Amino acid sequence: MTVKLYEENAYTARFEATVLSCEEGKKGFAVVLNRTAFFPEGGGQDADRGTLGDATVRDVQIKDGVITHTVDRALEVGATVTGAIDWETRFARMQQHTGEHLVSGLIHRTFGYDNVGFHMSDTIVTLDVSGPLTAEDITAIELSANRAVYENKAVTASFPTPEELDTIDYRSKLELSHGVRLVTIEDYDVCACCAPHVARTGEIGLIKLLSAIPYKGGTRIEMLSGLPAFLDYAALHESNREIMRLLSAKRDKTAEFVARDHDTIAQLRAENARLSEALALASFTQADTQKLPCGFTKGAAFDGMKQCLDTMGGEGAVFSDNGDGTFRYLLASETDDMRPLTKELNAALSGKGGGKPNLTQGSVQATKEDILAFLNA
Ligand SMILES: [Zn+2]
Repeated sequence: MTVKLYEENAYTARFEATVLSCEEGKKGFAVVLNRTAFFPEGGGQDADRGTLGDATVRDVQIKDGVITHTVDRALEVGATVTGAIDWETRFARMQQHTGEHLVSGLIHRTFGYDNVGFHMSDTIVTLDVSGPLTAEDITAIELSANRAVYENKAVTASFPTPEELDTIDYRSKLELSHGVRLVTIEDYDVCACCAPHVARTGEIGLIKLLSAIPYKGGTRIEMLSGLPAFLDYAALHESNREIMRLLSAKRDKTAEFVARDHDTIAQLRAENARLSEALALASFTQADTQKLPCGFTKGAAFDGMKQCLDTMGGEGAVFSDNGDGTFRYLLASETDDMRPLTKELNAALSGKGGGKPNLTQGSVQATKEDILAFLNA
């Protein structure tokens, strides 16, 4: 059994230990120490990273109480090594994990729901609870969680005896009676957990619930605590500042300004479409060809070309000059399949496009004369 220094003191970032074994494997060297502060992957939390002597720790796993560190170079068996864990990452995880206990505990206490899923990456914490929550519920929980941070409550860990455990009401995903480690947030939560936590709720810092969606009959919540929450706030603040600059809006008015511009853009688009159609019709000229009635316009989009087609009784070919050596086209017929002719057109005039039997559309690289020559051939 490896002595778990992270259980004795979650703040141990450097330690000395003796190398008990070192074996070369596929992913590096598997090192077992007599004791370690490296938290192994488990309970929804990733393994700590850091160094053992000159070696970089790539992974840490626990099996039957023995903790194995996967490192990038061999360590001498029997030697004393100094372990150093990547403290900034670890402390952020302690903030995130304790923040999650607090929120899950509050949801359990308020609604009676259980935490049925938990995953923590360095960018997001996801937790699943067993019942539905409204937007108002989420807002209230978030506020209560942040208040509990200001109250700076003690967070402690203990190993009660099975008899003591019978008398304690605690949250747990597993039915265990031996070696249960309870993490208690004074006045707020008691939960079975193996991971390191901060010592007081004040160290969690900001808690922000980012989203809550219905999930398998319950609710999936995404949240951030501590440094990751602050960094997220800072990034969103920068983004909002850029929007403020672009819209000349005050910091709390950006959404209002975007909504206003959104409406204006919709009106302008509608107006633009009307003008384009009017322009397409104004510059429309018809010509009869051997193959079918046809007409030409300029700079028109689909709706404008369709309007032109309607003036021809809805049948024939409409070409719109894009002004760059290409024409858009629409071919329509109520009785004939236009696809074979469309294929020929594309082949003759370096075009592309297609559609349904009675309406095809596309573009060709050609002049008006090329198009007329094709339709009269
Ligand atoms: Zn936990």
